[in-house]
Amino acid sequence: MLRIRRIYDDILPVNKETLRQVKEILKSQFPDVSEDEIESLGEKLRNPFKQRFCAIPLVAETMRGRVLGFATLLHEPQIGFAYLDWIATASGKTGGGLGGALYDRVRREAASLRATGLFFECLPDNPHECPEPSVLKANRARLRFYERYGARPIINTAYETPVNPGDTCMPYLVFDGLDRPRPLRRAYAKKVVRAVLERKYADLCPPEYVERVVASFKDDPVALRGFQYVKPEAAKSAVESQSFEQIALLVNERHTIHHIHEGGYVESPVRVRNILTELEKGGLCAQVKPRHFAEKYIYAVHAADFVNYLRRACAEVEEGKSLYPYIFPIRNKTRPPKEPSVLSGYYCIDTFTPINRNAYPAARGAVDAALTAAREILDGRRIAYALVRPPGHHAERRAFGGFCYFNNNAIAAQYLSAYGKVAVLDIDYHHGNGQQDIFYRRSDVLTVSIHGHPSFAYPYFSGFEEERGEGEGEGFNMNIPLPEGVNGKQYRKALAKAIQRIEAFSPQFLVVAFGLDPAKGDPTGTWSLGTQDFEENGLLIGALGLPTVVIQEGGYRTRTLGRNAFSFFKGLATANSQWVNNRRRAKAVLVGMNFRTEVDQKDSERIRRLVEITGFFSAAEVDLAVELVSERLEKGPECGYHFLMAEHYGRIIGYTCYGPIPCTAGSFDIYWIAVHPDFHRRGIGRGLVKETERLIRAAGGSRIYVDTSQRSQYASTRAFYEGCGYRLETVLTDFYAPGDGKAIYCKPLV
Ligand SMILES: [Zn+2]
Repeated sequence: MLRIRRIYDDILPVNKETLRQVKEILKSQFPDVSEDEIESLGEKLRNPFKQRFCAIPLVAETMRGRVLGFATLLHEPQIGFAYLDWIATASGKTGGGLGGALYDRVRREAASLRATGLFFECLPDNPHECPEPSVLKANRARLRFYERYGARPIINTAYETPVNPGDTCMPYLVFDGLDRPRPLRRAYAKKVVRAVLERKYADLCPPEYVERVVASFKDDPVALRGFQYVKPEAAKSAVESQSFEQIALLVNERHTIHHIHEGGYVESPVRVRNILTELEKGGLCAQVKPRHFAEKYIYAVHAADFVNYLRRACAEVEEGKSLYPYIFPIRNKTRPPKEPSVLSGYYCIDTFTPINRNAYPAARGAVDAALTAAREILDGRRIAYALVRPPGHHAERRAFGGFCYFNNNAIAAQYLSAYGKVAVLDIDYHHGNGQQDIFYRRSDVLTVSIHGHPSFAYPYFSGFEEERGEGEGEGFNMNIPLPEGVNGKQYRKALAKAIQRIEAFSPQFLVVAFGLDPAKGDPTGTWSLGTQDFEENGLLIGALGLPTVVIQEGGYRTRTLGRNAFSFFKGLATANSQWVNNRRRAKAVLVGMNFRTEVDQKDSERIRRLVEITGFFSAAEVDLAVELVSERLEKGPECGYHFLMAEHYGRIIGYTCYGPIPCTAGSFDIYWIAVHPDFHRRGIGRGLVKETERLIRAAGGSRIYVDTSQRSQYASTRAFYEGCGYRLETVLTDFYAPGDGKAIYCKPLV
């Protein structure tokens, strides 16, 4: 089976491998293209605005990750056009089924960006311009293929003018009006051509050439060549599958088998029915059938013994009967009890989530729906909604409870995390303890939850503000507990804080654990959000502009469930599609960053992680960096080592270590500076140096020294110090090793 997906970065192993294959195809299909151009693909992903285009690479691959073809689309949001930079297949054919699938996808992507047109170059199909018969044949096939979509070369302009005298086979500029074939206006076409020539061919086209080509656009509307290969009426310009921008809706059809007929068990099938009825009215969603996924995706976030217990226990319990935990053997985790009914308490956090015959298959169905939703996102859908029950966000790595068995949103987040960073935003009234527990020690999945304070709201034991993650995950869990009475406006304030945190994390994907229990009158909540508030929440979250998987959690006031859900999705879809039109650059000023100077016990470990991850220092140097922290912790400031930490939401992202040079009057040394690679080129290093200088000045310092190696590896370090106003004072030749001198820089503080 084939799928086409967008690549978001060149960092993850899966994408690295994909890009490697893409480069292979490029090299074999376009032998004339320079190595630099091919290598720049990764750079374009990291820095999409470098050419003032946003690069969107799409790959067609088998389910096992073999790349069969790819296309790169450049989007220009200001002028509003898309440019097809590359389209290539491993076999060399772009006109066949695969090329067609890729081109369909390119058109869909361009249309969803609201581009007015799609432009690209095609080599000429005229024997005067292209004398080589085999090339001519291929060019004809290509132009015939595009004509089927109504796309044809622009004529009566000087676009094909050779840049250098004697250049032959100059490409045509082809225009595809997408699904809104309107006349191509001259003023717009001029802007497009200028942008393409100036940005894409800056090295090739001198300014006079650009001016001449732009000035040659005289017709208004700009003329396109007549149809040469297909009858005009046979061309189909409609963009395939308008449902592209609809929300993919995945319903766990097996949810109805899970029905606990007991007083107070508010988690019932009617919830899904109400939401579905309301969503079906609006045409906002397109239903997609959930696929079955292997159990390995569940094992990826839940402990195997826990999963196996649930499966077995549900199968063994008598039909129609429910088994409720009543003993909680929490005192000895290493000795699970033998008796099945007692074992339920070993794996459960409360007394109201039963084991029964249907719980397991229903929960399994919910997992399939959640994973299919994630899959839809990987296939390029902007929003997918898994309308499931039982819910999942209270299920931890080794525990069920709170009506939840498997953590659907964590399973989806884990699945997506193989392709890019994921933020999980839990907007259920109750704390998302499940995903917090599962991702607590990870920095590639950010978990944020807004909920009723655990002092009065379920699950009571977690959801406190100070739970911020551990180890590598420190700073990657954020809890925003709120008081008992909260209205829509107060809620939005908390939501804005959560969104700010997510923006600072800059994930590739968003998973929303979607609870409707913040609504007014919910039997399990205390807040008073109205239908309009849900739309506002959707607008705020949609403005993040991320590919988003929404997974149903709680919400029990059946009268308003459907209406509130519809409002939320209306807001979410509206803001998400608006975002693609006015995409902003990543914020230069880093939100959530602060400095601190005191050193605490955990810092040894934090500094070790930071220094190691830079990949810049040897094992001995790493040990030395950690030793300085230990010495400071043991002896206090008297030891002469001072620290300045740059923290981002509680995680150290950079630091300096400095101190007075003994036996001098006011000379200081900066011994150490390191910045986490995720935060390079964001001004953290400069900020640290500036703040360190301020501290040194305040301590009576007048001169600062730094030293570094002369090796080429340290060229950027030397450039950095020079940029901060440090002057090279002297070089101690062969200091570190023969040929490796020590460069000493100095900055007098005036
Ligand atoms: Zn809830």
